[in-house]
Amino acid sequence: NIMAQLIDGKAIAKSIRDQAKLEIQELQAKYPGFKPHLAIIQVGEREDSTVYVRQKERAAKESGINITIQKQDSSITQFELLRAVQELNNNPSIHGLLVQLPLPDHISEKIITEAISPKKDVDGFHAHNIGNLSKRHSSPLFVPCTPKGIIELLNRTGIQISGKHAVVVGRSDIVGFPVFTLLSRADATVTLCHSKTENLPEITKTADILIVAVGKTEYIKGDWVKPGAVVIDVGTNAVEDQSKKSGIRWVGDVEFSSVSQVASHITPVPGGVGPMTVAMLLYNTVDSAKRFWKESRERRVTSL
Ligand code: NAP
Repeated sequence: NIMAQLIDGKAIAKSIRDQAKLEIQELQAKYPGFKPHLAIIQVGEREDSTVYVRQKERAAKESGINITIQKQDSSITQFELLRAVQELNNNPSIHGLLVQLPLPDHISEKIITEAISPKKDVDGFHAHNIGNLSKRHSSPLFVPCTPKGIIELLNRTGIQISGKHAVVVGRSDIVGFPVFTLLSRADATVTLCHSKTENLPEITKTADILIVAVGKTEYIKGDWVKPGAVVIDVGTNAVEDQSKKSGIRWVGDVEFSSVSQVASHITPVPGGVGPMTVAMLLYNTVDSAKRFWKESRERRVTSL
């Protein structure tokens, strides 16, 4: 039994972050006023959200991206939150804006997501961006970070997507569905599975590329996977573990011990998809800053 090759998301993400840092430095050498700026609104004090926001903050700072974190009390009204979003939309020094999800029950995530300017929507969740991602021959301004990170992992590992059968398990707005769309755009034949799918193990067994975003600890077993398949495990499930200082350990949606015996490539949890999400957020922020910079230069030139 040959162990699968590990896809080192941590290392790949690091090289993308280094690349972003270098690009910022090069642009600043030419245009000293160029400074990408990301704003994050966090509502309430959810521990997991705080961890994610802190990761984004650290990575942004390391790459030379300005970051503003606006913490709002969980009692904020939807109207007040909309006003805070609007203010950041209108602030020309900010190029990327996201509201950390999930939000408290009294606030509609849909309304808030749609209130973010599509031009600053670095999470890529706005209907304008999702729509253009889904439409052939059009390009979104931003692709959602986790799905984009998954495609980057495949590309940078040299895995052929075109013509292959990819199976995506999970159809959420933030992972499964955009991954389905991106794989189709990359010319895979894609099957999208979800909680009502019948005979799931039979379908996953036909995958050359298997992407799992279900949110269920070690759900996909080794005998559900075709020998030689490429397996991307998006799941991040916290499992109690008293031997850890934090009291928890992160486990994927894939049973690593058995699947790694049959797959040709597999992402570990942690250290696979997770770091890519943050790297792609930085990438989207730099991309946005470049777009704003270019637009403002063009405006200056035409007004001469
Ligand atoms: P989600 O919104 O809860 O969606 C889960 C999807 O899995 C749904 O489409 C659901 O089907 C499907 N599903 C549930 N049970 C199933 C079953 N028994 N068989 C087949 N499909 C099933 O989750 P998500 O936001 O996409 O996240 C999925 C996982 O990825 C979570 O563990 C999350 O923590 C992790 N995640 C990681 C990152 C990262 O950066 N590493 C980012 C985002 C999410 P229905 O549509 O029919 O309900």
